[in-house]
Amino acid sequence: MTVTSVDDIAENIEAHYRQRTPGSADLWNQSFRVFPEGISGAAKYYTPHPVFVDTGFGGHVIDVDGNDYVDLLMGAGSSLLGHCHPAVVSAVSNQIGLLATTLAPTALEPRYAERLQQHMPYLERIRFTNTGSEATRTALRAARAATGRTMFAKFEGNYHGSDDCFLFSSVSRAVAGSASRPTPVADSAGIPDTLADQVLVLPYNDPDTASQLIRENGSCLAAVIMEPMAFSTGGAVLADRDFAESIRAVTEDHGIVLIFDEVVTSLRLGVGGAPDYLGVTPDLSCIGKAIGGGLPLAAMGGRADLMETVLGPSAQGDGTKIFQSGTFTGNPVSLAAGMAVLDVLESEPVLGHIDNLGASLRKGMQEVLDHHGSGHMTGVGSIFQLHFTDSPPHNRRDVLEGDLELLRIVLLAMCSHGVLWPPIHPGLVSYGHTAEDVQRVVDTTDQVLSLSLFAQ
Ligand code: PMP
Repeated sequence: MTVTSVDDIAENIEAHYRQRTPGSADLWNQSFRVFPEGISGAAKYYTPHPVFVDTGFGGHVIDVDGNDYVDLLMGAGSSLLGHCHPAVVSAVSNQIGLLATTLAPTALEPRYAERLQQHMPYLERIRFTNTGSEATRTALRAARAATGRTMFAKFEGNYHGSDDCFLFSSVSRAVAGSASRPTPVADSAGIPDTLADQVLVLPYNDPDTASQLIRENGSCLAAVIMEPMAFSTGGAVLADRDFAESIRAVTEDHGIVLIFDEVVTSLRLGVGGAPDYLGVTPDLSCIGKAIGGGLPLAAMGGRADLMETVLGPSAQGDGTKIFQSGTFTGNPVSLAAGMAVLDVLESEPVLGHIDNLGASLRKGMQEVLDHHGSGHMTGVGSIFQLHFTDSPPHNRRDVLEGDLELLRIVLLAMCSHGVLWPPIHPGLVSYGHTAEDVQRVVDTTDQVLSLSLFAQ
């Protein structure tokens, strides 16, 4: 495939996009009166303007101009069953009529935690949080308190939420240091420089180098945190099994707490979590998104001895007690929604359905890409990403070597042809998607790549 002028075609594609979404453009312009950049969170920002959506059902959303889309954002994976699944709607409506929130605990909290634990027995003790970011920061705090160490390691291109400590070498398009010795790049202004000294950045899917770097810093590291599948900035790349096993072994050798960030993958890649599909059990894990059925809910948990050390009855006296709380923590409405998701997961072939759809989408899109002579699909189960790279990427550096402007234009063109997959993060399908939806995505890819720009 030869791309003669990305700029020329970008102009046409953006013009078509604008023409189809005037209501979104108006809303975006109005939003500048209240929101810098016209949006209320970085993930919603892309040019020429984001699509503003009104309603959703199953695997579809309708935007404010009445355009119907196959939605591949799905709340960054939160809507595992699809939008407005009747079980979730009913559970939420019912719970909201009973009790929305108070600070007292409810019976729903232990009930849901125990149900999650039945599927993920490595979560021997659990604390609910509202967001994935709260879960990861609490897990790191727990690791620091339990080990008495401050430094931690993360992988280049793994995203762990919006806390200062994790905003290094994740969303930034810059990398620093060599591939085998990456150095931290701050993803945001406003983060104290001194925090960079507490982060060791490791290469993803490079077991020998990562283990060596961990060994060199072994006595200083409280935790190593990793995504079992590098999602938002990592390009939907699954950790190789031997890589995960190496990291498990070296962290164990040095008394370092291994934290898995399963915020995106929890329930979605298997109700048993990462130990089931990677064969490796972390000390602590963070789960989120799908566990709240589309409402805010996340959790952190893991080894009982570790959790009790930092949150149990003797923690105060031992000086290892960490603070973990929040007004909306374990709110009954999110718990009810989450339990409805689990009800459906336990009684219907949800994961078989979404995994099949994911596999046929990756296969169909790869065939289209091969036909047009460029591009690679990555992903696993219901998660997938498109890359205009020379070969399928294994880590963030590989992802960044791809043609990101071409990717942006192609995804924008997909949006103006009815597939909501703006250039934000990998795509996901839900239980609400159908084989026809997947076919539409594949056909749309073909249609978009057949535009004059991509003519061979
Ligand atoms: N970890 C991972 C792997 C994520 O993908 C995200 C969000 N996309 C988070 C943590 C943070 O979760 P939240 O946005 O709920 O704070």
